[in-house]
Amino acid sequence: MKYKTALLPAIKNIALVAHDNRKKDLLDWAYYNRDSLKKHKLFATGTTGSLLEEKLEQPIVKFLSGPLGGDQQLGAKITEDEINCLIFFWDPLSSQPHDPDVKALVRIATVWNIPMACNRCTADFLLSSPLMDENVNRIQPDYSDYMNRNIDTE
Ligand code: PGA
Repeated sequence: MKYKTALLPAIKNIALVAHDNRKKDLLDWAYYNRDSLKKHKLFATGTTGSLLEEKLEQPIVKFLSGPLGGDQQLGAKITEDEINCLIFFWDPLSSQPHDPDVKALVRIATVWNIPMACNRCTADFLLSSPLMDENVNRIQPDYSDYMNRNIDTE
């Protein structure tokens, strides 16, 4: 695998998503960290975003609700380098109607090597990192060989 670097700006575009059983946890975490989150631009799936906006009194860019395509919209923004951090409190104890989308969102964040926290402890470590408020040249996989691969169509 080849790598290149990509900028994670000091003011980050952070996506926040929580499944229904994890929403209270995310709201508590976000409220506790509201001063840190205010330094960044926030994005969220529909329901999570509405609840957060009310709790944090901070504007949030809201996409569709997760099961209606919101997870996929966030994933697309990650591929376009418009979201560079993901806080995703998914529910490990319930099955979700949009399970393929949940997996796809976690997968695409991994593909593009953006910082991602899927539980509160990791979210604490992430947000308290000094890198959170700095320009960071993160390592990004270079997929050019894959994109230019030869496909035998004969
Ligand atoms: P919601 O979506 O914020 O609209 O509830 C979350 C999800 O299930 O991805």
